[in-house]
Amino acid sequence: MTGTGAVTGYDVVVLGGGVAGCVLAARLSEDPGRSVCLVEAGPDYGQRDHWPEKVLDSRSLPRDDVWERHAAVHRVRARILGGSSCVNGCWNTWGALSDHAEWERAGGDRWSAEAMEPFRLAAVEQMGLRPVPENEFSVWSSGALEAARELGYQEVDMGTSGGPGYGTPLINSFDGLRWNAAFGYLDPARARPNLTILDRALVDRMDVGGGRVRAVEIDRDGERITLSADDYVVACGTYGSPAVLMRSGIGPAVHLREHGIRPVVDLPGVGANLSDQPGVFVPLTPTGELDEALADKEAKGDLYVSRMLVRAAGDRCPDGSWDLHLLPVAGPPLFGSLPPGRYEAGISSFLMKPASRGRVALRSADPAEPLDIAPGFFSDPEGHDLAVVRWGLGLVEEMASTAALGKLVQPLGSRPAHLADEEIKARAGTYWHPVGTCAMGPPDDPSAVVDGTGRVHGLCNLRVADASVLPTVPAANTQLPVLAAAELLADAARAETALR
Ligand SMILES: Cc1cc2nc3c(=O)[nH]c(=O)nc-3n(C[C@H](O)[C@H](O)[C@H](O)COP(=O)(O)OP(=O)(O)OC[C@H]3O[C@@H](n4cnc5c(N)ncnc54)[C@H](O)[C@@H]3O)c2cc1C
Repeated sequence: MTGTGAVTGYDVVVLGGGVAGCVLAARLSEDPGRSVCLVEAGPDYGQRDHWPEKVLDSRSLPRDDVWERHAAVHRVRARILGGSSCVNGCWNTWGALSDHAEWERAGGDRWSAEAMEPFRLAAVEQMGLRPVPENEFSVWSSGALEAARELGYQEVDMGTSGGPGYGTPLINSFDGLRWNAAFGYLDPARARPNLTILDRALVDRMDVGGGRVRAVEIDRDGERITLSADDYVVACGTYGSPAVLMRSGIGPAVHLREHGIRPVVDLPGVGANLSDQPGVFVPLTPTGELDEALADKEAKGDLYVSRMLVRAAGDRCPDGSWDLHLLPVAGPPLFGSLPPGRYEAGISSFLMKPASRGRVALRSADPAEPLDIAPGFFSDPEGHDLAVVRWGLGLVEEMASTAALGKLVQPLGSRPAHLADEEIKARAGTYWHPVGTCAMGPPDDPSAVVDGTGRVHGLCNLRVADASVLPTVPAANTQLPVLAAAELLADAARAETALR
């Protein structure tokens, strides 16, 4: 699509073509009578053979199509059709039953484990998620599976709420090809005449008045485009969605006024409640034997840094749930580089159910200005989050000292579980699973932004449908939960727009 000025006539405009946006655009355009326009700030590389090799290679995490280069690690997010499924680790796991209970309290029955199951299954099928094939286990991943058994963990199905234990994820990777959400959801829909994809198009703000959105203003190649539709869905992700809402006058009134934005709907929850999973990586020194085995695997094109995980449950976990992922990795370093034939190994302790909350705020009303993102790691006053990560570091020590892994790495020189608080905080990275900045909840909850169907409180034709609506992060990697949530929200939107 080309041109400038006003374009009208869509039934639905989906803003943001990431993981959730691809689901929404694909599902809503299944009805040939509904016209859908999907707007994405990053590029659409189109046919699969036109995609850059780096984006397709699932053995590493690409960093080209992102919002900010050289920014703090927690700020990494994709700017490309397919969203963060184009830059992520292709791991898919599911959360605990207690996560559903949290979501059900906020969004109603449709968020129960039972009600979400068809959406989980639909996402697994549409993305072609599959178990890890045998050839992708390195001597390290196989050793880590053995180490988990040695420590007495039970094997569990990581694609479901199967409880604490060890196992392997479902992956969206095929012989090294990262299968992103644009491939899984949009490719089968691209030929539909009722679906328009508008790439390299930055959503600035929506024009809101009279209890509804009237239009959306977009910058594309230096031109201003105004789109209008009956319904609008914001799916710009946990950082992007609150920003679009705030620039449109939907958010905390005081903050909006600070940036010269006239508040239209005062929703203090927009940008608040940011919840992400911090973790600490414990480096281990590979033996020469491990380096050699990894080099051999790499030469065959089969080296994947991680292929198993452990779910561990602390004292405060509800029955059947867990609050830690232990993640053993070995391969080329995620950051930096090592001489040929040398590899990085280690085990991370990731906090899955943080009590701390951060926030996303605007630095100005300019959509090109980077956002003010404060992850809030370890800010909970009770120190719960720090205590869980520290406990996890003790489990990492145990795992590194098993017979199965101990023979592949040098013994640990010091005790990570004895690190000073400030050192744990300084060394913390992220699992890249932020949620919660447009959290769902009932209309009488002042912090709620959307209802259980994604509809923004106070506006009749605006929804948010992405990771930002989850009020709490599940005890999982978030791609599969976000895909399933987007399936659920598409279903709700479809049902309501069909009634009109
Ligand atoms: C480095 C990294 C590694 C990860 N690894 C894993 C993993 O292995 N397993 C897992 O389960 N999860 C992983 N995740 C998390 C997972 O990718 C996210 O949970 C998921 O992508 C969230 O989907 P979303 O649709 O909410 O946001 P996104 O997929 O981020 O999509 C948001 C989209 O909106 C677009 N957008 C934003 N603002 C605007 C605007 N103003 N105008 C137009 N478009 C806009 C963006 O460009 C982007 O395409 C990882 C994430 C990252 C960043």
